[in-house]
Amino acid sequence: MSASLEDYRRVVGSSSIDELVLLADRVRHRRLQHINSTSVGGGVAELLARMVPLFRDLGIETTWDVIKGDQAFFEVTKAFHNALHGGKVTITEDMFDVYRQTTSMNLGDMGASGDFIVVHDLQPAGLIAKKENSGGHWLWRCHIDVSTPDPTVWGFLKRYVDLYDASVFSMPEFAQKLSIPQFMVTPSIDPLADKNRDLPASQVTAVLERHGVDPERPIITQISRYDRLKDPIGVIRAYRLVRRRYDCQLILAGSGASDDPEGEQVLQEVREAAQGDPDIHVLLLPPFADLEVNALVRGSTIVMQKSLKEGFGLTVTEALWKRKPVIGGAVGGIKLQILNGVTGFLVHSAEGAANRAVELLGDKQLRESIGANGHQHVRENFLTTRSIRDYLLMMLATEHREKDITLLTESRK
Ligand code: UDP
Repeated sequence: MSASLEDYRRVVGSSSIDELVLLADRVRHRRLQHINSTSVGGGVAELLARMVPLFRDLGIETTWDVIKGDQAFFEVTKAFHNALHGGKVTITEDMFDVYRQTTSMNLGDMGASGDFIVVHDLQPAGLIAKKENSGGHWLWRCHIDVSTPDPTVWGFLKRYVDLYDASVFSMPEFAQKLSIPQFMVTPSIDPLADKNRDLPASQVTAVLERHGVDPERPIITQISRYDRLKDPIGVIRAYRLVRRRYDCQLILAGSGASDDPEGEQVLQEVREAAQGDPDIHVLLLPPFADLEVNALVRGSTIVMQKSLKEGFGLTVTEALWKRKPVIGGAVGGIKLQILNGVTGFLVHSAEGAANRAVELLGDKQLRESIGANGHQHVRENFLTTRSIRDYLLMMLATEHREKDITLLTESRK
């Protein structure tokens, strides 16, 4: 269910919505096209699903297209993704060929009809070759942490990125040496989405019980795709340390993403690590299980996001919004969301995570005050309406910049 723009007034205040209407008026009748690599699973699909209807509400004709790729392509792009995150990955010339071949197939299949075309992440980045014929302003939106990328993969990708009109990163640490302007925009969550809206306590309890979780005992939860960079095994290690002090339970819940072929293998590793402990609940959720994810987080005492690398980490935002104390890996965008000791705790190891969990489990007041701070931090910084405003400003800035360049070039003639 999508909420209309007017519904957000009561959440973010009227002045924020008035500002959006005003800004949108200046880019009205422009067509905005988003392109990414999956319509379901992961943060980008989550963001687009919520933002597209709001852009339309604002009078901006907005479309969302997904590139096609086979298993081999997504294996390559996942390897590139890991390499850009600074992981040690073997990269071969064949992999670049697979990327180029799928890119040229998508170049043939996909129309680029926007006045603004926003291409998300590395998988569709090669579509920039369309710019010459289709026109429009092209923005490359990078959602991952590229602060220490593998130089070979970044070198390959950069040749595409430099052809865009502008790039967008989630935080200044990810900025790169590029010949094009770089915007900094943090992602956001939709407070009115099924994943985030308030739920009756009975619904929360029912979901926990359906999964065999005892609502009366403390629950530590991590919601994430089964991905090694989310460190689910580290979460199990932390939980086992906490268990020495508290009779608690662990939920690891995740679903697959069609552009992430590693999930099944990682899930298998997690199941093996959890074996023999009936208080560890390893859940494989179906796509679009938003109410269920919402309930699992709301029913938790503590939420973990012990990532080893993270572009932003919408799961952190979602938990903070629900007033949960969050323990997060001190990486990437998690550091923007968790102000250590104020809106949650940042950790560097399973032991650190366990210590913080023990501290939180022993102090209800601490849990509540940190949870309240986290909620406020999200309200002020990480709601969809703020992202929409940033996009509108980027559209305006990009148009103006190009007008200025045209004027400059003409005056030099
Ligand atoms: N998510 C979900 N079901 C799951 C696991 C994750 O709906 O089983 C959602 C999660 O709530 C969040 C998004 O997928 O909205 C994950 O975004 P994040 O930025 O945390 O990580 P990414 O998967 O993009 O690396």
